[in-house]
Amino acid sequence: MTMYYRIWGDHMGGLEQKLYYDNYSPIGDIAVIAMCFVILILIYTSYVSKTRAFFLFNVIIGLIFLAAGSNILYHYQLSGITSDEGHFIVYLMNFLYHTALYGILYVFVLYIIDVQRLEMSKRRPILIIATVLFFVSVLFDLIGIVKKTGFHINADGTATDGKNIFPLAYVGFVAIIMYLMIVYRNRIFKQVMRGFYGTMLVAFIIISIQYLNNQSSFTVTTFLFPTIAMLYIIHSNPYNIELGAINITAMEDMIRYSYERERTLIIMSLYIKEFDEEGKNFPKEIQAVIRRFAGEFFRGAFLFQVNNGHMILLADKHLNPDSESRIISMFSEFNEEYLKHKLDYKIVYGLTMEEVSRNNEYISFIRHIHKHMGYNEKHQITQEDVDLFNKYEYILKELADIYRGGNLRDPRVLAYCQPVFNVKTGRYDTAEALMRLKLQDTGLVFPDQFIPLAEENGFIHTLTKIILQKTCDEIRYLIKEGYEVNRISVNVSVLELRDDNFCKDISEIIEGSDIPNEKVAIEITESQSDKDFDVMKNRISVLKEKGIKFYLDDFGTGYSNMERIMELPFDIIKFDRSLVMASDADAKSETMVGGLANMFSDMNYSVLYEGVENEVDEKRCINMSASYLQGFKYSKPIPIMDLKNFFSKIEESA
Ligand code: C2E
Ligand code: CA
Ligand code: CA
Repeated sequence: MTMYYRIWGDHMGGLEQKLYYDNYSPIGDIAVIAMCFVILILIYTSYVSKTRAFFLFNVIIGLIFLAAGSNILYHYQLSGITSDEGHFIVYLMNFLYHTALYGILYVFVLYIIDVQRLEMSKRRPILIIATVLFFVSVLFDLIGIVKKTGFHINADGTATDGKNIFPLAYVGFVAIIMYLMIVYRNRIFKQVMRGFYGTMLVAFIIISIQYLNNQSSFTVTTFLFPTIAMLYIIHSNPYNIELGAINITAMEDMIRYSYERERTLIIMSLYIKEFDEEGKNFPKEIQAVIRRFAGEFFRGAFLFQVNNGHMILLADKHLNPDSESRIISMFSEFNEEYLKHKLDYKIVYGLTMEEVSRNNEYISFIRHIHKHMGYNEKHQITQEDVDLFNKYEYILKELADIYRGGNLRDPRVLAYCQPVFNVKTGRYDTAEALMRLKLQDTGLVFPDQFIPLAEENGFIHTLTKIILQKTCDEIRYLIKEGYEVNRISVNVSVLELRDDNFCKDISEIIEGSDIPNEKVAIEITESQSDKDFDVMKNRISVLKEKGIKFYLDDFGTGYSNMERIMELPFDIIKFDRSLVMASDADAKSETMVGGLANMFSDMNYSVLYEGVENEVDEKRCINMSASYLQGFKYSKPIPIMDLKNFFSKIEESA
């Protein structure tokens, strides 16, 4: 096949005219080069995940650039030729052009394999075929040029394609790509696949029209289309243009990328309570402040939006070696803004920590820190935070395991208890069960470290069932051994009551343990919500019917809505330690606490004082209508097996 090239003199003006029938205009390739620059500008001004696929994407852009450039130069050089002498540049450019196109197709294949996460065994045959195709094509072109059987320049300065493998290689690569995109289509989100099919269809239509019209100006352009799809669908993480924030996946990518390269990042986390609600809009002036803070204080910083009220700014430490002074000036401006807007906030800041980066856990790490700090504070991340967080994660994992296991005698959940002194008899015949965890890595864990965690994650009811089971086992043992056991109380979270199976679960365990229902009491704290109140009322009445006793826990710490308390049939009101302490402060408070206690006992409730630590407390409480006393004065919490050391045998007490 011989091709006669006519110059694109019309466009370049002043160049000698030549004959050809293959219409080439550099307009397509010039546009491609311009587009490559546009793409480069976009990827270096937006946040792009630095994955392996992104590296391949860059290679593709480079090759497209090379293809367009060499094609322009090739045609330009060719147009000035009148003989077959010394046209090294023409040969070189033709060769480069074809090699770059094969290269693009080859890297497309690598790219798709990477994005589809093909396993080694499936990847290998495809890789071998594509690599062979690439080298055979390049070699074929090279041999053609050297032997003059392929592309060469005739004596009159016209160019001949000769034996040309390009269309064949093109079809070969497209076949491999189609194979991958059809056979493994389910590995990628359907919508994304449609994006690629669509752009490839457009490319194919243009190539076909070109071919039918003997055109070659837009060949490289068609290679650009799938690349634009890649940029748009896979690599771009659009900014929220009002805040300048990017989504959370992008943040995880950035952390992973830095961790793999052992680079430290500066972290600035801002939580604003006011906006911590889906769909709550930031006023314009706050948006402007956030934009300014995201852009002004650190070089190369990116802002990520965790959720509506929580944002995290990350910046490379090595780009900001003076980060400490930057942080100081940021905070001083922040404080000024705070005075203007008065929005409650929590700031957590510092450098990335290896252990947290390893599993990319900053969001839960920061949320964990939030729990232990107050509003309008700025907390600097320390190793201690990491250690606490690791412990917390470990406990959470163990709790999940206990929950899944469902073993009501799980050895990791320990029943401790505190004997309660009965004022009337002067003996110990009741006790409160208190939970502890005993875990391999941490040893004994106290309730403040795991009860809230268990509540938040829906594990609390399982823990209650375990404590109840172990308490019932102990009650049975004590009864069998002849001890006088009035009852043992177990703590229950308000959250658990919402479960429709609550009453059934509790009765099953008690009945299964072969002990009378009245040997068990349940302690609940007051709840504030109307919905919980109705549920609580229902549960208490169902279980009371069976003889189970109920204690109101922590009276004096919550709302102490007397009207509601009276509506619930409690047996014992537990006065919190704070009331015991208050009554010690002055005569007026003592009169008040005593008056409350009197009122309750007049209405047939028993009053129990918690946190009785010494004889002074004891005396005062006895004077304030105490029926029961509990506290360190009598005993610290002990393993439930040791309760027998406090209880008396029935024959002794008789
Ligand atoms: P609580 O129900 O008010 O339990 C009494 C807490 O006061 C216990 O803390 C006990 O060790 C402590 N205490 C006892 N006597 C004194 C004293 O004289 N002075 C002082 N300062 N403190 C005293 P513990 O065991 O750490 O339990 C803390 C909280 O954890 C409990 O408060 C309860 O709300 C929760 N909890 C414990 N076990 C369970 C359980 O099995 N289930 C549920 N849902 N919550 C539990
Ligand atoms: Ca309690
Ligand atoms: Ca209490």
